[in-house]
Amino acid sequence: MSSPCIITVAITGSVPRKEDNPAVPITVAEQVESTQEAFEAGATIVHVHVRDEAQKPSSDPERFAAFQEGVHRHCPGMIVQFSTGGRGRAPEERGAMLHHKPDMASLATGSVNFPNMIYENPPELIDSLAAAMQRYGVKPEVEVFDLAMLYAAAAMAESGSLKSPLHVQFVCGLKNALPPRREILEFEVAQLQALLPDATWTAAGIGRSQLEINHWALEMGGHCRTGLEDNIRFDKERLAKSNAELVARVAALCAGYGRHPASVAEAREILKLPAAV
Ligand code: ZN
Repeated sequence: MSSPCIITVAITGSVPRKEDNPAVPITVAEQVESTQEAFEAGATIVHVHVRDEAQKPSSDPERFAAFQEGVHRHCPGMIVQFSTGGRGRAPEERGAMLHHKPDMASLATGSVNFPNMIYENPPELIDSLAAAMQRYGVKPEVEVFDLAMLYAAAAMAESGSLKSPLHVQFVCGLKNALPPRREILEFEVAQLQALLPDATWTAAGIGRSQLEINHWALEMGGHCRTGLEDNIRFDKERLAKSNAELVARVAALCAGYGRHPASVAEAREILKLPAAV
């Protein structure tokens, strides 16, 4: 029997601009439209950063709320995941929208170098974001950019500051962080399973590693992330036409690995989220 694969679409991110790929959705209306197309192509989680009029990363809680409302309206049951990522946002602003109670929010459990900056996640910031997520009933997606973040998350699960079962995302191929090497992903997954046997996991490949990481995650029983945040190209020859095109590519790969794109009900069951109303 085929097993469900939850496809996450990371629609916008904080880096790509319209000038890089005109398909990158910037306004909330564009983001909702792009999400709906991706949902129809098989995505069941949408990971979102919002932008201001100048395309800069925004912390405006009302933009996040408007996006969430649009997704609720147009993509019934789809799981909304707000980014608490740091690029272009002050630390105290990173959790400022969690009171809107998205299903999930991203949570990096350590610091790492990004291509052109330090992605700073000091322990007290991690703890305060985790506490806010507990307060508002938001399930974290633990972002593992470097191996130590996995052990930090396991310690937080042990202490109760993160509620089990955890959902972890392994990020591969970001310059200055972990390279997209199969042995690394296999080691990370084995460690996760040893430390937190009930945890679930996704892998994200940045840039040209996106497709290869999708293949590995499908083969190894994990879930997949794709989208213009991570990669604006379809292949060497051309830019991706839309988030939906990248989602459709993953959906089409599933059958080859005895998998199928998870339905909303399956995704919510796997992640132990409340059923959609
Ligand atoms: Zn992100």
